[in-house]
Amino acid sequence: MSGITAATRVAGVIGRPVAHSLSPVIHNTWIEAAGLDAVYVALSPSEDWLAPLISGCRGGLMAGLNVTLPFKEQALAMADTASDRAWRAGAANLLLFGADDQIAADNTDGLGLMAAFAAQAPAFDVAGQVVTVLGAGGAARGAAAALVGAGAAVVRLVNRTRERAEQIAEVLGPRIQVFGWDQMPSALDGASALINSTSLGLEGGAPLNLSLAGLPETAVVMDMVYRPLRTPLLLAAAAAGHATVDGLEMLIGQARPSFEALFGQAPPAAVDVRRLALAALGDLA
Ligand code: NAP
Repeated sequence: MSGITAATRVAGVIGRPVAHSLSPVIHNTWIEAAGLDAVYVALSPSEDWLAPLISGCRGGLMAGLNVTLPFKEQALAMADTASDRAWRAGAANLLLFGADDQIAADNTDGLGLMAAFAAQAPAFDVAGQVVTVLGAGGAARGAAAALVGAGAAVVRLVNRTRERAEQIAEVLGPRIQVFGWDQMPSALDGASALINSTSLGLEGGAPLNLSLAGLPETAVVMDMVYRPLRTPLLLAAAAAGHATVDGLEMLIGQARPSFEALFGQAPPAAVDVRRLALAALGDLA
């Protein structure tokens, strides 16, 4: 990394926990390759210190902050302005601190999702399709907003807590259909893509127990979970002949527009940032 100077532009990611975040590896690699006088750090404020930290950055003391679990909804609420996609997602994964003291919220997760499909399932065109999304948390809402925005005919939200999915349908409109977990066969029937945006399947956590039997063979299967990279869902999908899209590609896909917003230029295309992220995950197979 280039030396820190008095003019170094500082950006970072906030989350709790944040030690596992791949964002510093991704952004600092791009910073170095682009020859920028900048640095990207990870911060993990307690709930009590989140608001003082964010308001303390007003006036451009930091260029901006990516935001991860569990602060995305609070970050949106603390901003002065928000992009349409952040409002529709109900969460911010990026805060930008302007020199005018204003905090602008954005959400690039939806762009990351669509970029991941474009990279790993390029034949898939969401326009006019039925997409089934498992979950109704912040990630599912962002995904549903992006899918509707990209022209999906129907987004089926399947969630344990039905009310959370119904709240998303109220915001995003009639193209969102709500299913209970017990209605899984109908939720999978005729879908062109299946996206897991629950935290099920995460390393060390509860498994995602799901039969793909009712899913059309041509459907693309995507998992937002990327620890492990090849989740049991993606392994089962690949074994059944489905095209698959992984969560790491989404993470990288949201980082690209974040970098551009934070540092005023696109990340250098020549860097194989996925390879670096895989090495950081300990998964280069
Ligand atoms: P969240 O707001 O906490 O939502 C968690 C979701 O998982 C909810 O729908 C919840 O259902 C469901 N869930 C949790 N435990 C469950 C269980 N035992 N049985 C059934 N459903 C269960 O989290 P989030 O922000 O949406 O994130 C969800 C996942 O996406 C996380 O693993 C996160 O790391 C990942 N993610 C990845 C990326 C990426 O770039 N790859 C980006 C964003 C998020 P209830 O509503 O019923 O509680």
